[in-house]
Amino acid sequence: TCTLRLVLGDQLNTEHSWFQIVDPHVVYVLMEVRQETDYVLHHAQKILAIFAAMRDFARHLREAGHRVRYVALDDPSNRQSISENLGAMMRRYDAERLEWQSPDEWRLDAEFRSWAAQQQFATTEVDSEHFLTSRNEMAQLYAGRKQWLMEHFYRHMRRRFTLLVDAQGKPEGGQWNFDHDNRKPWPGTPAEPADTRPTHDHQALWELLQRCGVRSFGDPQAMQMRWPLNRKEALTCLDAFINSSLPHFGDFEDAMSSTSQRLFHSLLSFALNVKMLHPLEVVRSAEQAYRNGSAPLAAVEGFIRQIVGWREYVRGIYWAHMPGYDECNTLGHELPLPSWFWTGDTKMRCMHHAIGQSLQTAHAHHIQRLMVIGNFSLLAGLDPQALHRWYLGVYIDAFEWVELPNTLGMSQWADGGLIATKPYVSSGAYIQRMSDYCQGCRYDPKQKLGDDACPFNALYWDFFARHEPLLRNNTRLGMVYKQLQKMQGDQLDALRTRAKDVRARLEQL
Ligand code: FAD
Ligand code: SF4
Repeated sequence: TCTLRLVLGDQLNTEHSWFQIVDPHVVYVLMEVRQETDYVLHHAQKILAIFAAMRDFARHLREAGHRVRYVALDDPSNRQSISENLGAMMRRYDAERLEWQSPDEWRLDAEFRSWAAQQQFATTEVDSEHFLTSRNEMAQLYAGRKQWLMEHFYRHMRRRFTLLVDAQGKPEGGQWNFDHDNRKPWPGTPAEPADTRPTHDHQALWELLQRCGVRSFGDPQAMQMRWPLNRKEALTCLDAFINSSLPHFGDFEDAMSSTSQRLFHSLLSFALNVKMLHPLEVVRSAEQAYRNGSAPLAAVEGFIRQIVGWREYVRGIYWAHMPGYDECNTLGHELPLPSWFWTGDTKMRCMHHAIGQSLQTAHAHHIQRLMVIGNFSLLAGLDPQALHRWYLGVYIDAFEWVELPNTLGMSQWADGGLIATKPYVSSGAYIQRMSDYCQGCRYDPKQKLGDDACPFNALYWDFFARHEPLLRNNTRLGMVYKQLQKMQGDQLDALRTRAKDVRARLEQL
């Protein structure tokens, strides 16, 4: 008899206590299943990177002396469902116990729990030992509060892990947040650091996906993908980021450029989300760079905030509000996504670049996701659930616990302001200030009306006029509504007519 232990594709954590002892009575199970390739239409690189990393993880476990059963996508015994495969394996191995690490997605959590309740054998769920907070910690921290402000949680985390705080619990540099230092456009210097990430050939795996009829979108880049396969490679990526990009991370955190896709971002989200890296080791490395004098405080604080702040915070939001959060649509938006979300084929240069890059590399940085693609979608009134499925499919780092609150909450205000105190929207002026996208665009960011006007401009005013009943009492929008009130009736009418026209012709933009 033996115990089976399930390892999911986003649980590739060699440091987990499970793996510290080699036990011949334990069989580790990994499986490639259609259930996971098909729950949403995925970018090809996302499927390839996860399967390739799972295969590498299985190899690593075997080399360390563990027993492993790896079910490949085309294995004749594969029932293409996690629980059905597990049931069959429990019988085949005559196993008496099944153990799994808590899944991060509600979908799998619910499936495992209800399935396990119907089984005769013993089951045990253990912690994934990855996050810095427990699933329900945020719900306790914010009990009774209407708004769940990230800043409150972030300070709590800084103190708790003594990150950039002194012995008295005061923040390093006298401030918790250096955001106002971190909002510069990128003038082209300093140069973007060289991309030293590993290159992998996944051609054989790509052929397997094709043979099995797995549908996907985006550029497969099967011959030369740059996502790390394992912890060793991920640690090398972390080191390279700390040494070459972190010093400039803060300055250009919000910048966008048509000549640099990455700028000074870490590209560590895939390695973090499949648990090759632990969040605390990542932020401790950054803190060390500040202590060594190799990176400025504003950059290090900004980076640490993304990981111990935003990342843990959105996970807390997810678990406190699922199920149900995935259906929220406070603004009642329902326009379908234009077909150019799958081709990048739009004349709006900012959208063309942000979407084109996403299709090509399965990655876009935060401001491209929030202030270009998300901004346009919110202004235009695109269906937030359809947009959520697009984000969940396209990005290499997209797992529902992190993608859903970012898309529905932070970006689309579909939760009515639980995460974002006001909708993240802007006219073309913001994009013009923070990027070089507007240079050479078919539209003019300075014009509001007419066929050549930047579509963001009329959509911006129309958005606030359209949603006045819901938004006008928001104290953070006082200025916007004052400006709207000052507009002459016919000026607003003209803007709204132009916006109506834009919304009717999304395909042609
Ligand atoms: P960096 O800019 O180098 O930041 C460092 C790390 O901080 C990231 O690796 C990530 O782990 C963390 N981080 C930064 N911002 C956030 C955030 N808002 N929420 C959670 N973690 C954050 N991130 C995902 O990991 N998966 C997603 O599916 C995802 N979907 C998003 C959807 C939308 C609409 C928006 C606006 C943001 C989304 N993000 C998501 C957050 C963020 O855009 C990505 O984490 C980041 O772009 C990843 O690239 P990077 O590793 O170079 O990040
Ligand atoms: Fe985007 Fe408008 Fe600038 Fe064109 S002009 S790149 S549509 S913001």
